[in-house]
Amino acid sequence: MEASIRDKYEVVIGLEVHAQMLTKTKAYSNDVNEYGSAPNSNISAITLGHPGTLPVMNKKTIEFAIRLGLACDAHIAPAQYFARKNYFYPDLPKGYQITQDTTPICTGGSIVIRTDDGTEKSIGLTRIHMEEDAGKSIHDVDVYDTLVDLNRAGTPLLEIVSEPDMRSSMEAYHYLTEVRKLVRYLDICDGNMEEGSLRCDANVSVRLVGVSEFGTKVEVKNMNSIRNVQRAIEFEIIRQIEVLEAGGTLSQETRAFDALKGITISMRSKEAANDYRYFPEPDLPPITITKQQIDEVALEMPALPRALFQRYTKEYGLSEYDAYNITDNKGIALYYESILVHTKNYKSAANWLMGDIKSYLNEYGIDMEKFPLKPLKIAELIHLVEEGKVSSTVASQNIFPALFTTDESPLQVAERLNLIQNSDEDALKGFILKVFELNPDEVSRYKAGEKQLTGFFMGQLMKVSQGKADPKLANGLLRQLLDA
Ligand code: ADP
Ligand code: MG
Repeated sequence: MEASIRDKYEVVIGLEVHAQMLTKTKAYSNDVNEYGSAPNSNISAITLGHPGTLPVMNKKTIEFAIRLGLACDAHIAPAQYFARKNYFYPDLPKGYQITQDTTPICTGGSIVIRTDDGTEKSIGLTRIHMEEDAGKSIHDVDVYDTLVDLNRAGTPLLEIVSEPDMRSSMEAYHYLTEVRKLVRYLDICDGNMEEGSLRCDANVSVRLVGVSEFGTKVEVKNMNSIRNVQRAIEFEIIRQIEVLEAGGTLSQETRAFDALKGITISMRSKEAANDYRYFPEPDLPPITITKQQIDEVALEMPALPRALFQRYTKEYGLSEYDAYNITDNKGIALYYESILVHTKNYKSAANWLMGDIKSYLNEYGIDMEKFPLKPLKIAELIHLVEEGKVSSTVASQNIFPALFTTDESPLQVAERLNLIQNSDEDALKGFILKVFELNPDEVSRYKAGEKQLTGFFMGQLMKVSQGKADPKLANGLLRQLLDA
């Protein structure tokens, strides 16, 4: 689509995110809450809603919701009421979901995103409420039939509804990235979109620039990665603009994203939307949340990525780029914090993490949590370089790789491999004279005025000394001898 046409329109996006909570048991029963168990093995009569059974609220779900609410600066309602959302579907054994309709546990608050140019934008939250998941219909395993796995039924969910505050698919991408980061930091959801533990419905509309009313929104479902949410929105924007440009009108509908084709397909129109006949859940009494309860959760809150980012940039002097990359992943941020228990060289610690350690993780395809070296070892490496015992090149190329196959400290490795840097002047002088002897032509060229050959001599010196020459000292000595 031509930019001139596209630029006539403004995009409006609001996201609804479902996060499966990482509780040991389900929302209203003690069935195990676990992904990947044998189909239909984690279901009791309570989850199935058999007559005579009663749901019992899992307290952990309230604590998790409060954690998220606090992290987003949301208002937390003192009284929790539950409602039934009724519909028929084969994977919904009770015929209804227990949810919160008009009384969500959290209202308001926001999530701050960083756009590509580094500016921050606050995306408002409408509400966060608790509900239970349905089971799962599996259409692509059996050729003839749809299979039903009810293990997921009753899994506690947090539904996070944003205000229509996003203005591009990229902002939606960043928002979802932040939400996922946040639930992971808070330990309330594993954020795994491929396994469906974090799911997102995108509401998309367009309007002519300058118009204040929102356009007709379309809800897009069925995206299993953040990247696909962005793709689906991007497709939807173009589709909507094309309809409007052709003189057509849009209708409020739900569409599904087809990731292979990269398109959205109409699922149902607003007229065909379910009437859920919400009514108060008669089997669950209202639950009161006290101020004391909220304070207790607040005390246990882990450091959040935004706060860490602020500290790293403002107090530790890291670049925004480094600070963002470290806090992007909770495991990496925790590891960084652990290195800093042993050293105050913030910048070096960040360099090791973003350089050699990240390369190692990429090479072996593992998460930070599986990284075999203790943070202390990295701090000791940093010390070795600081003390001038080894150059940072030797630390990175020779000592770091050796640490994976030994229990020795970096210093012990350096000694064993004979890598301790030579700062002894006489020895250095010997190396330099050796270099002169091997490169008489370059020496005369230098004397004739080619001062840029200093770099060449330094390189040769490192070779001759096997990397053990202390660069600062060597540089001074080299010039002294050349200019003599
Ligand atoms: P519904 O009644 O269809 O559930 P809501 O008003 O509850 O709609 O909004 C659901 C989601 O859609 C929210 O995330 C909201 O921000 C978003 N939304 C509402 N109106 C629009 C619009 N015109 N364009 C894009 N998103 C919208
Ligand atoms: Mg709604």
